[in-house]
Amino acid sequence: MKKYNHFVNGKEMLPNNGEYFETENPYTCTKWADVAKGNAHDVDVAVNVAKEAFEKSWSNTKPTERGKLLVKLAELVERDAQKLGEIEVQDNGKLIAEMGAQTKYLAEWYRYFGGLADKVEGAVLPSDKPGIFNFTKYEPFGVIGMITAWNSPLLLLSWKLAPALAAGNTAVIKPSEFTSSSTLVFMNLIKEAGFPPGVINVVCGLGKEAGSAIVNHPDIAKIAFTGSDQSGQIIYEAAAKGIKHVCLELGGKSPNIVFEDADLDAAVAGVISGIFAASGQTCIAGSRLLVQSSIYKKFMTKLLDVASKAKVGNPMLPDTNVGPVATKPQFEKVLDYIDIGKSEGAKCVLGGDVFKGDGPQGGLMVQPTIFTECNNNMRIAREEIFGPVLSTITFDTEDQAFSIANDTAFGLGAGIWTNDIGKAHDGAS
Ligand code: NAD
Repeated sequence: MKKYNHFVNGKEMLPNNGEYFETENPYTCTKWADVAKGNAHDVDVAVNVAKEAFEKSWSNTKPTERGKLLVKLAELVERDAQKLGEIEVQDNGKLIAEMGAQTKYLAEWYRYFGGLADKVEGAVLPSDKPGIFNFTKYEPFGVIGMITAWNSPLLLLSWKLAPALAAGNTAVIKPSEFTSSSTLVFMNLIKEAGFPPGVINVVCGLGKEAGSAIVNHPDIAKIAFTGSDQSGQIIYEAAAKGIKHVCLELGGKSPNIVFEDADLDAAVAGVISGIFAASGQTCIAGSRLLVQSSIYKKFMTKLLDVASKAKVGNPMLPDTNVGPVATKPQFEKVLDYIDIGKSEGAKCVLGGDVFKGDGPQGGLMVQPTIFTECNNNMRIAREEIFGPVLSTITFDTEDQAFSIANDTAFGLGAGIWTNDIGKAHDGAS
């Protein structure tokens, strides 16, 4: 078993209470690492270190220097892409094929913000009063608390970390308790790139303990969070008490709309990757399929033909199409929603159960599942399942399609399949 500790002030830090929790491979269902279980004390130590690093060094570092470090980090991410990808596969069951694309994009992200670090421009604001000169200038916040979900740990972290560092902020990071290891391994690259100690710190632990301690810490100036709506709401309320800046990336129930004039084969490929990539555990997963009635039969035949051939199994194999669900609670939640769909009267035309293949017994595998005869009031059309479950709804007119698409509590993403560019732009705007 591997043992992972917090990363504070440029080195490992043991958990104050000596506690660890186990992390599990969702495909093999074997425990493979112990991770430090942080508490409010650990968070306090990390925030103090990050505050000192902000005040004494990082906020005074030249933007070009910060940019160079980020570009160096991008090179190291490129060098270690395979290794980083494999750790995430082991921790959350994401496909190694998907990780290949994601780690490549990660490097680009750090490179982009490395280039932007010395181009943060303010503005001169015109004034009609003589002798008055108005200008704006961007300044770093200070210490930013970064809390991430388990579905794409390094990607979600990089979205927050790269711009924050470029702008001169320091960070205290709490990865998901289900997938902390890749963030900790990533800290080796942070060190190697040459970031000063204390600029980037990681405290692992549970949301209600370590996460909440970050959100409530008086020296955290801003929270950057990715996770569920439920946790987002709690964090928003807590941050409001400290009048902290908050950036929340939450859930979705995104529609994929297929019109009768679409290239149906391309639409099938898009709908399938939209819901079955990462086993549906993507915030922008196209979990509602809206199909025009006139092509419904033809389109569903094509869709089922391709979806039923998906190779389900070992995420470490490059030709696997659908891997496991990442965590036991999520696995149970997805199966519950499949039961809800059946009891609501939707028709399950593909999957609808645990997947039992040749792989290890007990792996968190769910069959790729497609429901038809859904309506937009059903729970499987309204609530985020975050698993490989597609809810299909038909429509007749363009207005109807966009009205169903927009009738959701979420507003994260959407796909439009048509050959009419005007219709696509109308729908998007
Ligand atoms: P989650 O809300 O359970 O946990 C996310 C993180 O928040 C974890 O690190 C957790 O420990 C922490 N946390 C939980 N409660 C907390 C609290 N009270 N205070 C502070 N921290 C707390 O979410 P999850 O199950 O890990 O992730 C799945 C969710 O993330 C889905 O809803 C998905 O749509 C969403 N997501 C959104 C995006 C996006 O960009 N919009 C991207 C990926 C995932």
